[in-house]
Amino acid sequence: MDLTKIELLVSKMRLSFNQGLSRPLDKRKEQLKQLKKMLVENEKQFYAALSSDLGKGEYEAFTSEVGFTVGEVGYTLKRLDEWASRKNVSTPLVAQPASSYRVPQPLGVVLIIGAWNYPIQLTLGPLIAAIAAGNSVILKPSELSPRCSALLAELLPKYLDNDLFSVVEGGVDETTELLKQKFNHIFYTGGEAVGKIVMRAAAEHLTPVVLELGGKSPCIVDKNTSLDTTAARIAWSKWINVGQTCVAPDYVIVEREFADPLITALTEKLKAYYGDNIKSNADYGRIVNKRHVARLASYLDKQDVVFGGEYDEDERFFAPTIVKDPDPASDLMQQEIFGPILPICIVDDIKDSIALVNSRPLPLALYLYTKNRDFEKEVVNSTTAGNMCINDGIMFMANPNLPFGGVGNSGMGSYHGKAGFETFSHYKSVMRRGTLLDPSLRYPPYSSRKLNI
Ligand code: NAD
Repeated sequence: MDLTKIELLVSKMRLSFNQGLSRPLDKRKEQLKQLKKMLVENEKQFYAALSSDLGKGEYEAFTSEVGFTVGEVGYTLKRLDEWASRKNVSTPLVAQPASSYRVPQPLGVVLIIGAWNYPIQLTLGPLIAAIAAGNSVILKPSELSPRCSALLAELLPKYLDNDLFSVVEGGVDETTELLKQKFNHIFYTGGEAVGKIVMRAAAEHLTPVVLELGGKSPCIVDKNTSLDTTAARIAWSKWINVGQTCVAPDYVIVEREFADPLITALTEKLKAYYGDNIKSNADYGRIVNKRHVARLASYLDKQDVVFGGEYDEDERFFAPTIVKDPDPASDLMQQEIFGPILPICIVDDIKDSIALVNSRPLPLALYLYTKNRDFEKEVVNSTTAGNMCINDGIMFMANPNLPFGGVGNSGMGSYHGKAGFETFSHYKSVMRRGTLLDPSLRYPPYSSRKLNI
């Protein structure tokens, strides 16, 4: 996009917002229905774009992108009247006679910067919440998933009100120009380094931000667990989207004696899921670009690769790979993997996993597989993470009643379901006072007699 047009575009969105065009509940609902219509009517086009950008098969594209997003629209539409209604609160005696309430209001013109790994869900999810809360939005999809970005830029203007919602395509230059503008909120999904750039730029305008970042999400596996189910769930949640999932288990922590049984069970699941010729299996996708294939390959240097390890830069293929007992100082254990390599870290006692998790930056997600309720309680209570799932992987994402977001280095703020509506709303506190009674107690002239009452 021509960079000089960005300032003009933001002004246009602001004018429409100031005219109140996005506020009426009926307008919000109509736009949400239009968004759903766009997804349903162009389902095949979305699948084709997701296949081109990430090699996603239709089943995965439906469950984790198109269907997931349609579901979020339905969930929101059903509850919007309730969410948007004013909430009465009590008023203390000192302020009587009065009534008090909180009323959610849109923030204004908001910027949503999406990521490439779930290029539909991670851009339209926040958009749903922003529309529901009555905002005007500029959407910046990731340039690393170009077919999805182009499709959103083509379709959204055909379905949504162009005075209120627009798409800016592009990379660093366009994002930098957007960040110079004054927004009322910025919702960013991506890596930590750019998260800092976004927050610095937002500070210039005192703009609040939500940062949905990443990091290394640990997966603690106690030997007191159902091995088969545990392996099935870890394998699914790690290798879906070829490991390019912000909440994918980044590394496993297991006791020494349980490492080999777990590795065997994981490899059996991988063979059952993807067959012997994984490269030609339509259910196994591709790495987003060659640069990321090379980055992942470099992580295998001097590691004990016990399964997989094959890759093909030209075809953006990287096999599901398991590394045993990795060097804690290596890039594999220092950087977020964001790909199909699963390190199996070994501890002498599973309780040591708590100290290991706590010695690292706060993760976006924490996973624990155990049948031991006392250990479960101990892990829940003595660790901090954005989200946690016990005895499964990324399934917690399927519950819109669980706000999704990071903590510390993995981000700030949350969305999904009502949390998304709240993120894009300001709850205005309102007191309405009666006028019949007006005791003179608080008015000057003050006297000790008034204080003694
Ligand atoms: P990224 O931070 O590299 O890029 C995201 C966006 O920032 C892109 O749209 C890009 O145009 C823009 N950008 C890049 N460099 C910029 C610069 N110098 N100045 C201004 N803008 C710039 O992130 P990514 O590679 O798209 O995503 C990977 C990371 O995102 C991982 O850490 C992953 O865990 C995280 N992630 C988090 C979530 C979540 O929901 N918490 C979801 C997906 C991905």
